[in-house]
Amino acid sequence: PSRSEISYFGAGPAALPTSVLETASAAILNHENSGVGLIEQSHRSANSINIITSACEHLRNLLNIPEGYSVLWMQGGGTTQFAAVVYNLVGHWVQTQLDANNGDLEAVKKALGSARADYLVTGSWSKKAAEEAARITGGAGKLTRVAVNAKAATGKFGAIPPESQWELTPAENSIFSYYCDNETVDGVEFPAFPAALEGRLVACDMSSNILSRRVDVSKYAILYAGAQKNVGGAGVTLVVVKDEVLKKQASEEALRALGLPVPPIMLYYPTLTGAGSLYNTLPIFDVFICREVMAGLLARGGLEVQEKVAAQKAALLYGALGRAGGFYKVVPEKSVRSRMNICFRIEAGEEVEKAFLEGAEAKGLTGLKGHRSVGGLRISNYNSVLVEAAEKLAAWIEEFAKERK
Ligand code: PLP
Repeated sequence: PSRSEISYFGAGPAALPTSVLETASAAILNHENSGVGLIEQSHRSANSINIITSACEHLRNLLNIPEGYSVLWMQGGGTTQFAAVVYNLVGHWVQTQLDANNGDLEAVKKALGSARADYLVTGSWSKKAAEEAARITGGAGKLTRVAVNAKAATGKFGAIPPESQWELTPAENSIFSYYCDNETVDGVEFPAFPAALEGRLVACDMSSNILSRRVDVSKYAILYAGAQKNVGGAGVTLVVVKDEVLKKQASEEALRALGLPVPPIMLYYPTLTGAGSLYNTLPIFDVFICREVMAGLLARGGLEVQEKVAAQKAALLYGALGRAGGFYKVVPEKSVRSRMNICFRIEAGEEVEKAFLEGAEAKGLTGLKGHRSVGGLRISNYNSVLVEAAEKLAAWIEEFAKERK
């Protein structure tokens, strides 16, 4: 089939606007009449730097990033950030403590005994991030702790426990707090910034819902997103980091003296901000795609509009699932249902789910299989999914239920 016959709901890499892919295809062969393709061009050429600069500007405009924050383009996907946030925020905490204690390492060593980074584990991705943080800081419970284990009550993800039940480290001992804004595998999304984290140093994984709603960047020390869902293709990760974190970092000597890990050079944000994201060879083509996607979002009215469109599409799809009167079961609780990843099951069983997928495919509705770790069905409703595609899928959801009931 041709592109126009398919509505793709894959979870990532996700669909991209056809116009962006057309522009990108031309740029691969001959970028801006230079006679050289974009993939072949030096990452340090004026052209490449222009692409990075404008991509940063578009992101600043879309997210309304305040003064005092830097934007970075990195590689290694969202997963690499699981480690990067730990190195950078632990280094920042150590230097803050040294400053407060007139450089007295013994005092900092003592403070380290009760200092913890809190992880809100609300799904598969925050669980992985918490595990990685524990792994590089000497094991679970040493410097990190799970302050929320959303799986504890039911054995599966699908809810966020009320904030009154969170076991946060007292603010004075908190190194940082970490959460994942939208859990791609489990379909759980924070409805808003968690009030309990107000005033703390917060790191957030927004890989699968960035640019789908407005965000108050000033509440975060770090937010990051792998590009391949709402921003571009796989290959680059965007990081927004508070300059205060970059400026105040412990020396390698101090970290060693405290028995803490020294960050690998490519995971140390100041290396990258100092080099304008070009400490090493950055895949400029991937940044170019992000820039084009963001230019499109800006032209359509930015995140205020995108937020409405995302809500409209999500309402259409959840509405269709709900109207089928129990034929479908949405996995997460209503209050935390993701607008981006709609996870559901068919009560009649896996054979019927298979038939749903086959019927959908025959109509050009693809990419609807749930993550291999949880099974079931998942609609990824990212920014590039058109309202018409969501309408078509909603109609199939209703039609299939009527047919099978
Ligand atoms: N975080 C979230 C929320 C994700 O959805 C994913 C990937 O799907 C990741 C992290 C991991 O990203 P990557 O595959 O780019 O390492």
